[in-house]
Amino acid sequence: MRSLLVVSVLLLAHLEPHISRAAEPRPQTILILDQGENRGPFYNRVLAAFRAVVDEQPSPATIYSESLDLNRFGGPVYEDSWRVHLGTKYRDRPIGVLVAIGSAALSYTLHLRAALWPGVPVAFSFVDEQTVAHLTLPSDVTGIIAQLHFADMMKAARAVVPNLKRVAILGDSLSSQTGFSHFVEEIPRATEGVELVDLTGRALRDVRSEVAALPDHTAILYTAIHANGEGAYLTPGDALALVAERANSPIVGSVETNIGRGSIGGYVLIPEVIGREAAGLALKILRGEPVTGIKNSNAAAVRPIFDWRQLQRFGIDESRLPPASEVRFRQVSIWERYQWQMAAVATALVFQTTLIVNLLSAHRRRRAAEIDARGRLMELAHLNRHAVTGDMSASIAHELNQPLGSILTNAQTAELLLTSDEPNVEEIRAIVADIKRDDQRASEVIKRLRGFLTKTSFEPQDIDINETIREVLRFLSDQAGARHVSLNSELTPKNVVVRGDRIQLQQVVLNLILNGMDSITDSTGETRKISIATTVRDERTVIVSVIDSGRGIPEDVLQRIFEPFFTTKKNGMGMGLSITRTILQAHGGHIWADTPIEGGAAFRFELPLRKV
Ligand code: ADP
Repeated sequence: MRSLLVVSVLLLAHLEPHISRAAEPRPQTILILDQGENRGPFYNRVLAAFRAVVDEQPSPATIYSESLDLNRFGGPVYEDSWRVHLGTKYRDRPIGVLVAIGSAALSYTLHLRAALWPGVPVAFSFVDEQTVAHLTLPSDVTGIIAQLHFADMMKAARAVVPNLKRVAILGDSLSSQTGFSHFVEEIPRATEGVELVDLTGRALRDVRSEVAALPDHTAILYTAIHANGEGAYLTPGDALALVAERANSPIVGSVETNIGRGSIGGYVLIPEVIGREAAGLALKILRGEPVTGIKNSNAAAVRPIFDWRQLQRFGIDESRLPPASEVRFRQVSIWERYQWQMAAVATALVFQTTLIVNLLSAHRRRRAAEIDARGRLMELAHLNRHAVTGDMSASIAHELNQPLGSILTNAQTAELLLTSDEPNVEEIRAIVADIKRDDQRASEVIKRLRGFLTKTSFEPQDIDINETIREVLRFLSDQAGARHVSLNSELTPKNVVVRGDRIQLQQVVLNLILNGMDSITDSTGETRKISIATTVRDERTVIVSVIDSGRGIPEDVLQRIFEPFFTTKKNGMGMGLSITRTILQAHGGHIWADTPIEGGAAFRFELPLRKV
């Protein structure tokens, strides 16, 4: 210890002339001595703000800074070590102004100045009134009083704890704290009327269990904890977070940098203001302006700021907060954050819904119209079938006459056989069998006719179109014979399945063949035949052609044959082709006609294929 002092005295003797000579003219250099530990967020931001102001100058001054770390270290030897260290470090660096940040740093700076930089002016900030009053400051020492009054912490406590009965004070022991030692003097008056629970200087472990069990109507007032009391150092923010984990009451904070770490907020010191104001003062001194008077900047350096999440946690209404309070970490609802986007989406949704409703009702109307149209089509088709069967009544009568005639003949024969003495039972049995067969044939004819004339609704099912054509050909075979027309068919060997109504598709084929027969009857040509063929195209479509050798269709008639009520026949209705076309359209198909060069007419229709 003694040797250290000897070394420093020797060093000082060697250095002093340099330093004092450097005082005039004023060098553009600033040495900042802050009482904190510059890795902690508070002093870090003080220094950053200080540098920012200096760097804005046209010809920035040089800044040196030293963090004295006085919350964790102290005592005469420690102070002496700084004197030696700084004396050595800055021996060739003349200093224009010394800046002290914090009350504890100011005392140090004054001591160091006396030894190392006599005559160099001092600017200070973040110093409390009590410290200024206790130190007798020379005229070349000026600065800004920026302190948090304990009364402000109480004001915040009353705002966040309705009907406040108790305050628990947390932190290192107040007298050892650099930033809040003045609270020792302020507390007795400020806490009049409320119970005081002093948890300062206690081990963090104890504090954590105490804050978990505080009675109602208590506010916790957090100054700064730098150590856990068991040998480990912490930043005040980290210590606060550990306390807040357990606390059952709101924690009123003291510095802005602790908002977001678990304190509800309060009147807090703003590091940027402290840094900026100190820099302004230091620059004035460097420019040579006279340094007089001490400013008080509490209004700017202490502001009420609160954490919205903590307010929610303790159910504190914002109306209880001091006027002009700033509320941070407000979580806005999705609706508030994306207001116009949501409005746009809502409008789009309304628009879309209206559109969908309109489309649905249009669709429903169309369906209704389709069903209506289909109903009418069924009526028409039914009429058309009546007309056709009416035309065919002669051939139907002929078809029925044949079995009925042979039934009669057979019955008479059987009667005769029965009158003989020894009736031939075997023969009679054969006759009865014939009667039964003929009867069956007759009832087949009637069944087919009835089926064709039944008024049915549209019932789509899988239909083999080849089979449909064969049925029609069977139905028309007698009539074709009577009219001397040969019906030839060339159908695909495999089944051709389409989706549709069997009766309607029969009607299509029937109409086309009957028209062909009519045309042949009207013609004088020798060939009298109708060819019906099916072909499959692309595995997706079946084409049915009905080609006759009749008189053909003149060009002007060809244009109009599918029009309803267009006919060139004396007793025609002009409905057959029109209905045919409508039926095919309802089946997703279509029909067209042309006149082949060899004469006659060719009608072709196609239908979507379901499977082959
Ligand atoms: P309708 O048979 O009662 O006249 P359609 O609609 O079946 O009604 O036929 C309309 C017209 O088309 C017929 O009057 C006829 O002039 C013409 N037509 C239809 N098929 C043929 C055909 N195979 N050959 C010649 N003309 C035809």
